[in-house]
This record gives sequence, C-alpha cells and structure tokens, in this order.
Amino acid sequence: MLSGRAPARWIGTSFKMTKTRAEAVAFARTLREALGPDGVPGVRPFVLPPATALAEVAAALGPGSPVLAGAQNAHWEDAGPWTGEISVPQAADAGARIVEIGHSERRAHFGETDATVRLKVASALRHGLIPLVCCGEEAGVHARGDSAAHVLAQVAAALDGVEDATRVLIAYEPVWAIGERGREPHPGEIADVVAALRDAHGSRVGGILYGGSVTERNAAALLGVDGVDGLFVGRAAWRIEGFLALLATAASARVTAS
Ligand code: PEP
Repeated sequence: MLSGRAPARWIGTSFKMTKTRAEAVAFARTLREALGPDGVPGVRPFVLPPATALAEVAAALGPGSPVLAGAQNAHWEDAGPWTGEISVPQAADAGARIVEIGHSERRAHFGETDATVRLKVASALRHGLIPLVCCGEEAGVHARGDSAAHVLAQVAAALDGVEDATRVLIAYEPVWAIGERGREPHPGEIADVVAALRDAHGSRVGGILYGGSVTERNAAALLGVDGVDGLFVGRAAWRIEGFLALLATAASARVTAS
C-alpha cells in the first residue's frame, strides 16, 4: 500500500512500441523466475508492456506478483465511441495495476495536454489504479533555467482536484534526457527539479521517480539524488539482464541509504 513517502524504491520500465507478445511474455516469465514470490526486498518493480501484451504479461507474472503490470496510456472515459483507445477499466481488466499518463511522446505526438492528463489521473484513481504521471521540460525550457516552474505547473495541473494523492507516482522525465536523442544528465542537473517536486508534493504523493537515459552505470548516482524514490527506465531495461541489474542496484542503494 502507498502512504506518504514511498516505502520502497520504484524501478519500472515501459516497453513503448517494442516487443511482440512472445517477447514480452518471455521477459515476464524470466522476471518471475528470477524474483520468486517475494521479489526484491525494498524494491517495487513494474513493467508496462504494449497493450497487445498486457493481459499475457500480467498472467505470466501471476496473481499477487511483486511486479506490477501496467498500461502505457488509457483514456479518461470508462467506455464509449473512442476508436483505437482503451479505458482504465479495460486496462484493469487486462491486469493493469498502474497506468502511465502524460509521457512526453504522447504530449508531443498524440495531443496529450495538462487537461487530458488531469482527467486520466482522476480516472485511474477512481478505478483503483496507480497513476504514474510523467512530467518534464523541453531542452529550451531547461536552457532558460525554467525547468522547475514548468514541471511544477504540469504536476499541479495533473493533481488539480485530487484530494488523496497517496497513490500517485510522479515521474520526472526531462524531454532533453529521454530516448535515443536524449542526453544523459549529471545528477546535479536534475536535483533542483526533484527538490522542487519533493517540496511541493513529496508529502502527499506515493513517490517521485526519475527517468531519462538511466543506465546500469548511472542508476546508483541518480537514485542517490535527494528526493528520488525510484527510476522509470526505457532502453536500459528492455533486456531482462538490464532490468535485473537495475533492481539489484536499487536494492543495494536502499541498504546504503538506511
Ligand atoms: C522514456 O522515454 O520515458 C525513457 C525513460 O527512456 P530512456 O530510458 O530510454 O531514455
């Protein structure tokens, strides 16, 4: 259960538009075998496969798995004439316990706005899923030194009207740091924004994650940034060996911190 500060380090990955069903299920099966029923002490893993593989991945992880399966997006309405979309109840029906909302790729290419993010957060909470709210600034905003204000405005919009945000996770993902064209940040470059998020929302949300060019090499340093409760990872976690290595790093980082 989430309450106040995250009790564990979150380590999650979105497969984005990669992997066949067979590949995603193989990843989930290997993860299940590697972690067993108890998972990794102090670490809360999650996996967001493409929608085509969600039900099979959730089934492969098994009921009561320490690994949460989730969706990369969901519509704010429960049902209706929204061709091509899936709703939060449909994602939950397929086994999702967490739903990613507002990734910068969706904001840039699919018309996601602060307003739709807010509606989706409300839907996720209404249906008992964990909303993973992505926020982050473009390179130009970063260069102007306006990152914290930009990100705080995104998160304020996402949480507008939310009375109990203890189930909400925030993923700070600077647009300039994510994906193939992203630039790996120095931990110091993300510290101000994470601190601003922590000061504004840390006591009311379930956790603050960092995402963008995370690797096995830099994971410990990024987890060490004050206020970071976990990592949201793309490319470095798509191979099961990479994901397992990040879980191990998070486990030892927690031991070091306590
Ligand atoms: C992302 O796109 O959300 C992301 C974290 O990607 P990567 O880790 O590959 O930079």
